Parts: sequence; structure tokens; C-alpha cells
Amino acid sequence: MDKQELEAKLRAYVGRETGPPATGPDPVNEAMIRHWCEAMGDRNPVYTDRAAAEKSVHGGVVAPPTMLQAWSLRGMAMAEPMDPAQDAQLSLHALLASAGYPSVVATNCEQGYTRYLRPGDQVVSRTVIEAISGEKATGLGIGYFVDTRTTFTDQRGEELGWMTFRVLKFKPNQMTPEGSAGAKAAQSPARPRRLKPPLGHDNQWWWEGVAAGELRIQRCKDCGTLRHPPRPMCGKCQSIAWDWIVSKGAGTVHSFTVLHHPPVPGYEYPLPVALVDLDEGTRIVANVAGCAPGEIRIGMRVQARIEAADDEMKLPFFHPVAGS
Ligand SMILES: [Zn+2]
Repeated sequence: MDKQELEAKLRAYVGRETGPPATGPDPVNEAMIRHWCEAMGDRNPVYTDRAAAEKSVHGGVVAPPTMLQAWSLRGMAMAEPMDPAQDAQLSLHALLASAGYPSVVATNCEQGYTRYLRPGDQVVSRTVIEAISGEKATGLGIGYFVDTRTTFTDQRGEELGWMTFRVLKFKPNQMTPEGSAGAKAAQSPARPRRLKPPLGHDNQWWWEGVAAGELRIQRCKDCGTLRHPPRPMCGKCQSIAWDWIVSKGAGTVHSFTVLHHPPVPGYEYPLPVALVDLDEGTRIVANVAGCAPGEIRIGMRVQARIEAADDEMKLPFFHPVAGS
């Protein structure tokens, strides 16, 4: 498919609804509001304390505005693939993938809130493909920006708010180009590399440590609190004086996830990523190696080893400690 043909097909998507209106499985309710507030650490009593909410300007419990989208999501059912024929966004992404733009990254999201939601409200969302850009060159690769706009309404059809969401559907820079260059590359396949972190004043020292085989942890010079990832100010005492210690790399898996999708060149899947509590007393996000993803457990003892992630970059990989 040439570019003109692709762009004509893309234009046909603009203005289309992505699928039927989505209604969440539950109306707005106090239990879900409380869970959200606990997870977010939001202690505003108008969300969770009926007596306080009744005395407030709201006259009763309301939901945090940022929950807006949560009320119309399908829940665990979202893990099952939808029929692309029923979901214009899926078929649009499949079209772009077949035209050589397989990767996707979300780049922008904005929300607006028209009114507070109250227990009993039933949220319905409708999403429209609002705009598709021309082909753009970006730091990640060449691709197309796709903008969607979701409108949220209540059971009476009155607007509750809106959300715009932009994704870039792209051809990663490191992907083997098609055609003759591709044939050449196939003869001497270079393993794609991982995405490189942007290095700056605040984090370069940490990466230099990894390159030298050290797992460094930033330490506040005034109160001694450890912190990671590197940042300029102590969250506890607001001091900007810091140094670092070298971690022994021993820790415990606090939580973990195993990534399967979307496949990004340079990474092997399934990709286990863990949140590790280091014995020195701070937490780090890193890959787990040395065991099958299904063998990882919360509470498992792990040991960091600085290993090559590709031919240019080293990273700490946490390996299970035998007998833990
Ligand atoms: Zn401090």
C-alpha cells in the first residue's frame, strides 16, 4: 500500500465513533470512590465522609472528578480482544500496523469536568476519532498521531465531562527498513537496542555508576534519607544537598508485573518488571532475570547483578536467591 492510498483510508476514519457507547458495569458508588481515594491517598472528606460531605457545598458525597473515565471502563473484560469490525480504533491501528507502523505510544491526555458525579449516576461514554495527522518524524520514529475525543454523559444524556487522547502509531527508528536495505540488514542482523534514558545533571551520575558496575542510591546529606530514582530534592526535608551510597543489591520483591504488549524492539517478552525493596531501605524498579516469569513471587529474595542489556547499555537485573 502506498502512502497516498494509506492516507485516503486514514481519512475515512476521521469523525467515526470507535464503537457503540460504553456503559460501566456499576453506577457511581461509595465503595469504588473509597477504594480510589485509598489508592490515590486523597483524604478530602467530601468523597468519603457522608456527614462532612453533607455540610459541604456539595450537600452530599461526590466522586473525585479524575475518576470520570473509570466509571465507564469495562473492567477485566478489557483484557479480551474485541472484534476489530466493532471497534474502529482497533481496525485503524491494524491498518497502520499493516502499513508498517506497528508500535504505539500514548502522548497526550486532557480531561474536562462539567459537573461532579454523585452516587447513583450511570456514566456512558462515546469516543470519536477526531483527527489523524499527516506522517510525522519524531524522536521515536516516523508515524501518525491519532486523536480521539470521549464524551461522558449521565443517564439523562447530560454531559459530565470529556477526554481527549492522542497516540502516536509509529515505525520505530531501530526497525529494519523494508526493501533492499532490509535484505542487506537481514544478512548481518544487528540486535536492536533498548530505549536509552535521557541523561542530565540529575541522573547521569547514577548511569555512570551502573556502567562502572555499581548500584548507587542517592542519599540526603542533611537527614540521611535514601531516594530513588535520582532527583534534586529530598522529599522528607527538602534539602538539595546529597551524595550516594553503593547498594549491596540485596532486596525483596515488593510487587511485579510481566509485560507482553506492546512489543518494543530491543526488549524480550514476556518481560518481568519488579518493584524491589532494597535492604538499605529504598525501592527500585528493575527487570527480573534468572527465572521464568511464572516463578516470581511477592516476598521473594533477589540479588542485583549489573549486566549488559544490549551491546551499549548495562542495567541492574535482579536474580532470585536460591532457597528464598
Ligand atoms: Zn533530607
